[in-house]
Amino acid sequence: MGDSAGGPPSEYRSENRTAGHSGGASEAGRDDTVRYYGRSKVVGADTSAIPEPTAADHDSRETMTAQPQPPDPPTDYATVATPSGAAPVEPDVSSRTDPGNESLGPTQEAQEDSPSSPTAAVDENGVAAALPADDDLPLAMEAMRAVQILNPSGEVTMPRPARPRIICVANQKGGVGKTTTTVNLAVALALHGNRVLVIDLDPQGNASTGLNVPHHAGVPDIYDCLVDSVPLVDVAQPVEGIPNLTCVPATIDLAGAEIELVSVVARESRLARAIAAYPREFDYLFIDCPPSLGLLTVNALVAAREVLIPIQCEYYALEGLNQLLSNISMVRAHLNPNLEVSTILLTMYDRRTRLADAVEQDVRNHFGDKVLQSVIPRNVRVSEAPSYGQSVMTYDPGSRGAASYFEAAQEIAERGAKWGENER
Ligand code: ADP
Ligand code: MG
Repeated sequence: MGDSAGGPPSEYRSENRTAGHSGGASEAGRDDTVRYYGRSKVVGADTSAIPEPTAADHDSRETMTAQPQPPDPPTDYATVATPSGAAPVEPDVSSRTDPGNESLGPTQEAQEDSPSSPTAAVDENGVAAALPADDDLPLAMEAMRAVQILNPSGEVTMPRPARPRIICVANQKGGVGKTTTTVNLAVALALHGNRVLVIDLDPQGNASTGLNVPHHAGVPDIYDCLVDSVPLVDVAQPVEGIPNLTCVPATIDLAGAEIELVSVVARESRLARAIAAYPREFDYLFIDCPPSLGLLTVNALVAAREVLIPIQCEYYALEGLNQLLSNISMVRAHLNPNLEVSTILLTMYDRRTRLADAVEQDVRNHFGDKVLQSVIPRNVRVSEAPSYGQSVMTYDPGSRGAASYFEAAQEIAERGAKWGENER
């Protein structure tokens, strides 16, 4: 829905500043949008901001606790599965039988489900398909999906790109899902037959933790490659349990790199050089950036061909995006003409808030088909997984979080395969 905004970064700023007006909205429409934002901001998960009253009894914040019971209503999964990515207002029948609900006991699940959508289920599928059958069907389907995600045969089910794809996962905001996205996409692609390398470029070393790769002080890491020109292959470590996946860890040493690199020759292209000298073949290389736009992120942008920007579906998530985009333009103009923002991924989506929907629409209006159809819901399994040194793909492959990252990885792989065809 465009007005003047065709997507260039500079125009995004004005759009962003107007708190989510979507392009040529009428005055009335504009007022509405602003009210959505205002209301959501003030009341948070207030039921007045929630399209479905039955979904209102869970606070999204509960998802962050370690409780095994998922606060998200099962209908949430419909959001992920909906090709348009838009949050459906009515509960979808498919979501009732969808296995994407978290790993609940069947009773628990039925209890959560039954008040919200029996009518819809009966309407479309008749009584037989309604309530009691849910007791086992979702679990069976969940198990099937888990097998699909884990792909025990290891065959190539996600197409390999025609040439290696180097993807920088960047957003200078912290906590938007950069690391979670890097880890889960990397594992998903590796489980499905792609050779994947992850470079942890954040001194916090969260990607290394998430992949269970040692990164305590003293472990050779990406710092050694950037500052002391140690070959990448010497510090890369295989990720246990995931064939085809390798990780270059970050230790706390990397915290000093921003300053130490300042005096190093060709300081912006240290990472690019290290990658160019990497002797092993790979299909995907993900670089997990720190939450800043400093020299480390610049190194990642110079080394990469693509940028993947995770955007959290929250109000402030859009602020600062313009700065990132203008940095990308600068790098493209001076250091890396091939760089492009190829992928936007909406993360931590909570469909019960209109705010999330408004943010999604806003982002889709501006970035068009760069935005993946798959949207990552806020899901407790996703946040639990790192504490077990795992991705959600292996920690709970039947969860909605795993399913949505799996779908995102599939989309990325399929798009890449298409680009490859076009180039040939
Ligand atoms: P960043 O790397 O951008 O700082 P992270 O990937 O570390 O962000 O995510 C920030 C926090 O949010 C982490 O605790 C992570 O476990 C949690 N998180 C990320 N994605 C989700 C999700 N889809 N659902 C729930 N929690 C999530
Ligand atoms: Mg991170």
